[in-house]
Amino acid sequence: MREKPKMHTCCMCGKPTPNYREYSPLLADLFNKSGYSMCDEFRRKGRIQTEWENEQSAERFLICPYCESFIDDPWQYEEDEDEIECPECKRTFKVEISTVRTYTTRRRIEDMPDGWNGGGF
Ligand SMILES: [Zn+2]
Ligand SMILES: [Zn+2]
Repeated sequence: MREKPKMHTCCMCGKPTPNYREYSPLLADLFNKSGYSMCDEFRRKGRIQTEWENEQSAERFLICPYCESFIDDPWQYEEDEDEIECPECKRTFKVEISTVRTYTTRRRIEDMPDGWNGGGF
């Protein structure tokens, strides 16, 4: 007797699919589930979309996803900008501008022990 593959439900269209992908522990924790299922059709769509988007995640540089040229003066664009026209090829593309987070920490003054002389604890 042949065993039937375990079926899951596609998270995109709700159709049954044998596909199942487990999340990494970090993601599983974040989404509060152990994985997700996506049917072949939506997997293909996702792949084509990713291919098309040609994401350029270079962090420090602004690169056009069409002609892949570096765009000078990226700081001229505001943080709330979500579309930019490439000065080279004149095509409009999506952009996410994020500022880099830095951390500065210090101990609270009110927690300084009385009579602390600036040495070790
Ligand atoms: Zn589906
Ligand atoms: Zn371009």
